Amino acid sequence: MIEYETVVGLEIHAHLKTESKMFCRCPVSSGKDYSYTEKDEPNVRVCPVCTGQPGTLPAANKKAIEDTILLGLALGSKINPKFNFERKNYFYPDLPKAYQITSSTNPPVLGGGLETELVVGNPSTGSGQMEMTKFVKLDHIHLEEDAGKLVHSGKYDDDSSLVDLNRAGTPLLEIITKPELSSGAEAAEFMRNLQAILRYLGISDADMEKGQMRCDANISVRKKGAKELGAKVEVKNINSFKMVQRAVDFETERQIEVLSGGGKIEQETRGWDDNKGKTLGQRSKEFAHDYRYFPEPDLPPFEVGKGKDLDPEIINDRLPELPKEKKARFEGEYGLSAHDAHSLTANIDVAEYFERLIEKLPQAAGNTEEKKKIGKLTASFMITEFLGKIEVGKGVFDTKVTPEGFSELISNIDEGKISGKMAKEVFLSMLETGKSANSIIKNKGIVQISDDKELNKIVVQVLKENPREVELYKDGKIQLLGFFVGQVMKLTRGQANPKMTNDILRKELSK
Ligand code: ZN
Ligand code: MN
Repeated sequence: MIEYETVVGLEIHAHLKTESKMFCRCPVSSGKDYSYTEKDEPNVRVCPVCTGQPGTLPAANKKAIEDTILLGLALGSKINPKFNFERKNYFYPDLPKAYQITSSTNPPVLGGGLETELVVGNPSTGSGQMEMTKFVKLDHIHLEEDAGKLVHSGKYDDDSSLVDLNRAGTPLLEIITKPELSSGAEAAEFMRNLQAILRYLGISDADMEKGQMRCDANISVRKKGAKELGAKVEVKNINSFKMVQRAVDFETERQIEVLSGGGKIEQETRGWDDNKGKTLGQRSKEFAHDYRYFPEPDLPPFEVGKGKDLDPEIINDRLPELPKEKKARFEGEYGLSAHDAHSLTANIDVAEYFERLIEKLPQAAGNTEEKKKIGKLTASFMITEFLGKIEVGKGVFDTKVTPEGFSELISNIDEGKISGKMAKEVFLSMLETGKSANSIIKNKGIVQISDDKELNKIVVQVLKENPREVELYKDGKIQLLGFFVGQVMKLTRGQANPKMTNDILRKELSK
């Protein structure tokens, strides 16, 4: 049997969260965060420029160009010393000018790449699972304007569509990778890593559910190890990480099936139908658009360099600590494993929350070893008890648990005042009520029994009440220790210090 491999390249569109649109003064968003939203009434953020009225002229948004160059600097790309906008001509009702202003032919950012963290193997069973990184090269990044949207509201009759131009003219990044990805999982992971970078830079929220990021995938298969690429199929309409993975995997299988059956892959555009879980043919090469690109006559080319329209050295000052650097620092400073450091730095909000929480802990101000000890404790509690409980689509700062209230809990665990089990219980109430750890501990009357004499008394009582088990234990059935611990916990309503309980039980049982 012939073995095949898939080759995937992505074209990713992401909204920039600038205050105003790409070529006019209309706001990108009605929200204070400048992030594009679909929630507004139709056509409330429009003007003669973004609705394509005759006689209007575009004026480029400098911040949007700077943001594009910033992304290029973060990804090690070459910044093009002179780039220009151009017109991409096509007709569609959501594009009032009948052309889109873009910059793909002579783009502002060339090359570069993104080191993508991948988990290979089976994540659900953990078999053969390992983490690795892959450097995915970029072809280029360009800047363009988004189109409006058609609304199929059925307001007038079933066939009517309305045009909403709120989105028209929103600054849009297009990030184009080289054909270097080799599975649906890799493509999805690349998207997640790219989203992290965009958020770290603060230039896009890149939320796929909110339509701020979307992607097209170019997929081809070839005989394993072959040099030449097979005929490529472009899959459109991919709006979530899950869809990227499913669409690539489905299309790979489909193409292999066609080739294995002696067929030929036609170069075509297909759409992803998420309900059916398959790609469907849209148009073939013969009907491909001819966009008749030509340089935008109303905008001069932009020069980038020292003393020019845009100075990369000044833009470079905006570069923050990026995920990879932050991860390395977390490993060193807080003694975290690579896995934990990755979990805490994949999202900038989570990373910032973690550090705010650590700042509140006096132990972290101590020597390096103390800092590592509290760092590990905090990280593991945050990852296991907190991150999984944040509502989908909501960030860590949307929860009621403040870093201050959280730090009290960590201190209580660290000082041995409450057990891990109690801490989990307290944390659940913190999530529900937003109250601080100390007030919940006080209200619930939770105190860990760490008094030697008191615990000894309880242990002796438990052993007295279970003579048969004591005998069996002494005969070598030492796994009964867990049973005794359980009895002590039952008597103390889970408030006995587990470590001390273990020690005292062992001591008493060896008598
Ligand atoms: Zn406008
Ligand atoms: Mn585009």
